[in-house]
Amino acid sequence: MEKGALFIGRVSGIRIYIHWTFAILLVWIFLVYYGQSGGDMQQGLLGGLFILALFACVTLHELGHALMGKRFKVETEKITLYPIGGVASMSKMPEKPVQELLVALAGPAVNIVIGGLLWLYLTQVKGLSLSGMTADLSTLSPQNFLAQLMFANFILAIFNLIPAFPMDGGRVFRALLSMGMERPQATRWAASLGQVLAVGFVFLGFFYNFWLVFIGIFIYLGATAEAYQETTTSALKGYTVRDVLMSSYQVLYPSQPLQAAVDLLLNGQDKEFIVLDLAGEQVVGILTRDDIIRHLAEAGREAPISEAMRRRFITLAPDQPLEEAMQALVANRTPIAPVYENGQLIGVVDMENIQEFLMVKGV
Ligand SMILES: [Zn+2]
Repeated sequence: MEKGALFIGRVSGIRIYIHWTFAILLVWIFLVYYGQSGGDMQQGLLGGLFILALFACVTLHELGHALMGKRFKVETEKITLYPIGGVASMSKMPEKPVQELLVALAGPAVNIVIGGLLWLYLTQVKGLSLSGMTADLSTLSPQNFLAQLMFANFILAIFNLIPAFPMDGGRVFRALLSMGMERPQATRWAASLGQVLAVGFVFLGFFYNFWLVFIGIFIYLGATAEAYQETTTSALKGYTVRDVLMSSYQVLYPSQPLQAAVDLLLNGQDKEFIVLDLAGEQVVGILTRDDIIRHLAEAGREAPISEAMRRRFITLAPDQPLEEAMQALVANRTPIAPVYENGQLIGVVDMENIQEFLMVKGV
């Protein structure tokens, strides 16, 4: 289940959600079209319908990435539609340049195909010429609905190919660069280009269209985040879980009251804990600082830990690459994981640990 998002369907194992804020966009578009037409209900509904059709195309775009990723064993857990666009939650991006290139291009390619099909339909079946299609695009009407959708798909494809993170074009650019240089360097170059373009957008935005300012900020943040993530990943390369393993750590038991967890939280360094069975051998859950605080408010300090702990957690192996372990922790939104070797619990790894490790390495 996804918080604040409505499940709308599943395509080859990928769950598709629509975020609640999308409703605001729909209502807003309805009101804009309703208002502009002087209170024409039909015009308002047509505007809403257009947004729905457009987001169906955005969904297909994201599915393009996801299904291409699947060919390279990159799993996509879900696709969430936000008012600003769709987000495919992929476990990672393939690191082989050619594969990354194909995954990044698959999205815009879908929009070009949709636009192309609409073009064929409008010219061959409807017998329209280009000038006929562009004649009256200023207002949306049932007559130009499909032509508008066609242009929107072409614009989506072009916009996404802007060579800046987090747009697909940023990944395309990085993939092309990594064919001739190391990936971290390629990422730095791609991120720098993104930042330069972002500043350009903001600058142009002040003169022409204020939306460009927002797009610029969005791209700047995306480029910066991508550069940071790549530095992190490459810094973790070559290390395994064993390198950050903590073999001394605090443990809790399911039957203990929450107060025991509060005591550990207040008296020690640890913020995340594992919960062991009574024999003290197997992990039965994990308890984070957030879990503790939330359940304190709801159930009080006498409530047993078994009620507050999470039963879903991941386990790691000591020889697993550190990079992979970090991805798993992030993807599962768990800040701590027990480490097992030959069925024996040998320690724990938490996010803070990994971050300290990075800090020591000067990242
Ligand atoms: Zn895309």
